[in-house]
Amino acid sequence: AKEAGKNGYQLFTAAMQQTIMQRIELEARLSDALCRNEFVLFYQPQVDLESEHVIGAEALIRWQKPDGQLVYPDEFIPIAEECGLITQIDHWVLKAACRQANKWREQSGRNFKMSVNLSSEQFAKDQELVQRVKNVLNKTGLPAECLTLEVTENAVMSDTESAIAIMTQLTALGVSIAIDDFGTGYSSLSYVKNFPARYLKIDRSFVKDIPGDSDDMAIAASIISLGRNLNMEVIAEGVEEQTQIDFLKQHRCQQVQGYFYGKPCAAEFFSQQFF
Ligand code: C2E
Ligand code: CA
Ligand code: CA
Ligand code: CA
Repeated sequence: AKEAGKNGYQLFTAAMQQTIMQRIELEARLSDALCRNEFVLFYQPQVDLESEHVIGAEALIRWQKPDGQLVYPDEFIPIAEECGLITQIDHWVLKAACRQANKWREQSGRNFKMSVNLSSEQFAKDQELVQRVKNVLNKTGLPAECLTLEVTENAVMSDTESAIAIMTQLTALGVSIAIDDFGTGYSSLSYVKNFPARYLKIDRSFVKDIPGDSDDMAIAASIISLGRNLNMEVIAEGVEEQTQIDFLKQHRCQQVQGYFYGKPCAAEFFSQQFF
């Protein structure tokens, strides 16, 4: 029994060491990926529910490895946050997404809203964010009204005062703020009314089981009416079924995003499909 225990212990440390090595390697490869321009943006349509027109897109990052393999953000964003690369990655995303949005705006002759995610790790701490956003808008020519920055509920709650100050400055530029993953965090409703945000995004976890789950339906309906009462537009995420569209329309949710209208896709494919 003693021997088995000892072996168990050795296996455990070996596995741990392997994890640590993989982690160090991944960090190094992420840093290379940035230099080698291996990140790409996919775009998912955002649809106005009343007209069913595509009025914008959310930019979602992928890492395209040289062998062609696509790595999804859940696998590398948390690591980029821990090792500090996230600021550079988010800046790259912001530039690339604004450049693309302005191109589409010019080509299509219509206003188009681009949504960009900001890391929750960075948001309240980043002193240079506002200046960086300003510079990117200047450089790309994208009007501030065409940019939405998505921050998670928890990002805002971790340091509420400075988060509100940053959101206020961004709003003053003309940029919109969306509170992402709304309902999953721990924000109290008394704070939400102080957020200078234009959009609330209902997290997919409350949408995916509509119409089967009556609790989720109650939560989704409450968020929509909360938005209406606070003068915020509500965007439902992860909409896959017609029955979900029907429910959201009935409750007058303003916008939807999800596989029902389109999966995130490469820029060329997006413009072929939606312009
Ligand atoms: P998120 O911001 O909540 O993005 C929505 C996620 O839901 C995306 O996953 C999207 O592909 C997925 N999704 C959209 N519609 C549906 C649907 O109908 N069904 C299902 N099953 N899924 C749907 P993705 O692209 O893997 O991104 C995951 C998360 O990674 C994002 O969650 C966001 O938090 C983060 N992320 C993505 N791009 C960036 C980025 O450029 N910067 C930062 N900091 N984070 C990013
Ligand atoms: Ca988002
Ligand atoms: Ca979300
Ligand atoms: Ca999410």
